[in-house]
Amino acid sequence: MKAEILATGTELLLGQTLNTSAHYLTGKLSSLGIEVDYHITVGDNPKRIEDSLRQALERSELVVTTGGLGPTVDDLTKELVAKVLGLELELDPASLKHIEDFFALRKAKMPESNRKQAYFPKGAKILPNPVGTAPGAIITKEGKTVVILPGPPFEMQLMYENYVHRELEEIVGPDAERMNVRVLKIFGMGESAIEEVIADLLNLPNPTMALLAKRAEMHIRLVVRSADAVEARRILDQAEAEIRSRLGDKVFGRDQDSMIGIVAKALRERGLTVATAESCTGGLVAAALTQQPGSSEFYLGGVVSYANAVKESMLGVGRQSLEQQGAVSPEVAKEMAAGARARLGADLALATTGIAGPDGGTDAKPVGLVYIGLATAQGAEAKKFQFYGGRDSVRALTVQAALNWLRLYLQV
Ligand code: AMP
Ligand code: MG
Repeated sequence: MKAEILATGTELLLGQTLNTSAHYLTGKLSSLGIEVDYHITVGDNPKRIEDSLRQALERSELVVTTGGLGPTVDDLTKELVAKVLGLELELDPASLKHIEDFFALRKAKMPESNRKQAYFPKGAKILPNPVGTAPGAIITKEGKTVVILPGPPFEMQLMYENYVHRELEEIVGPDAERMNVRVLKIFGMGESAIEEVIADLLNLPNPTMALLAKRAEMHIRLVVRSADAVEARRILDQAEAEIRSRLGDKVFGRDQDSMIGIVAKALRERGLTVATAESCTGGLVAAALTQQPGSSEFYLGGVVSYANAVKESMLGVGRQSLEQQGAVSPEVAKEMAAGARARLGADLALATTGIAGPDGGTDAKPVGLVYIGLATAQGAEAKKFQFYGGRDSVRALTVQAALNWLRLYLQV
C-alpha cells in the first residue's frame, strides 16, 4: 500500500517548526509495511492544500494529513478534504458536546469559531481528541483513505496510538507484506571501506541493504519485505552472519544496541570497575559511562585533566613526558590511564588526550590527532587515532573509540 504524509502549516515552511510529525508517522506506517512515497509540506494556503490533496490521492491509496484542524479561518484541512472527495460537511453532535465540555471545564465561554471543529465530511469515522478540542477523522471513498490528524504533535501521536494504528492494521490486513528491518552497527570503518567489502551484497534484492553514516558510527540497514516473519528472520540472520564474517569485530551491535550499552553490560557481568582521565574530551567519556542507569556498579569516577599541571598533580603524569613528548603523546595517554587506575583504585582506566581543534594543530600534531590510553592489570597501552571533522566530531569520535577499545578488551 502506498501512502503520503501531507503536513500543513506555514510555520513549517518558515523554518520555525520542525516537521516532526512526518518523521513520526512515517516510522509508524513503515512498521505496518505501508510504503510512504512522499512527504508533502504545504503552507496554510487553500489552493495549494487542495492541489496537493488531489495529486496525493491520484498517486496513493492513503493520505495522512496533519494540522489545520483549529478553529481559525486558516484551518481548512477538513473543508478541503471534503471538497476534493466530493463530500458534504456534517455536524457531529458528540464532537460539539466534547468541545463545549472542554470549555465548560475551564469555565470559559466557547467562541463561536470553535463550532467548526465539530463538522466532518459525511461518512467520516471521527477520532476523539482527549487532550484538545480538534477531533480527527478517517474517511474512505472509492478505495482511497484519508486520515486527518491535528497539528500539535502530542495530540497527533495520542490519536494515532489510540485509533489510527488499529484502523490501518485492518485496512492493510493480516497477510500484508511487512518491512522486517535489522540494523547492524559498525565502528572503525568508513562508508567507502565498508562498501568495498560488501559491494556484492548491496546489490541483492532480498534483503535490500543501505549504508547510513551516523556521527560516530556506521549503520547497515537490512530490509526484507515479507508477510512471513519467520522466513524474514531467517533471511536477516543469514545476511547478518555473512556481514559479520566479513567485517569481524568492527560490528559492535544491532538494532537497539548502543556502544555504551554493550560496554556497560559486559562490565557489570564481569564485575569490573572503570575510571577515566580525560583531556580533549573534557568529561564526555565519563558522561557516556554515567548515562547508563546503574552505572555506579562499574564506574568509579574520573579526572578532567585539561591543564598539564592537573595531569601531573592529580594523575601523576611525569613532567619529563609532558615536556619531552608533549601532552598529546602515547606516553602521556598511558601515564594518564595508569594514574587514574591507581589513584581511583579501578580495575580498568581509559584516558584521552588529543587536539580537538579548530586551533592548536601543527604539522607533526594535526587537529584530530588523538591518543587513547587503556590501563589494565597487565599495564597501560596507548593507541593513536587520526579523526577528521570539526571539534564536536573529533570529541564524539574519541569517546566512541575509547568505549570501543574497552569493548574489544572485554571481547564483546
Ligand atoms: P495546527 O493544528 O495546524 O493549528 O497546528 C498547531 C501547532 O502544532 C502548530 O503551531 C505547530 O507548532 C504544531 N505542528 C503542526 N504541524 C506540525 C508538524 N508537522 N510537526 C511538528 N509540529 C507541528
Ligand atoms: Mg496550522
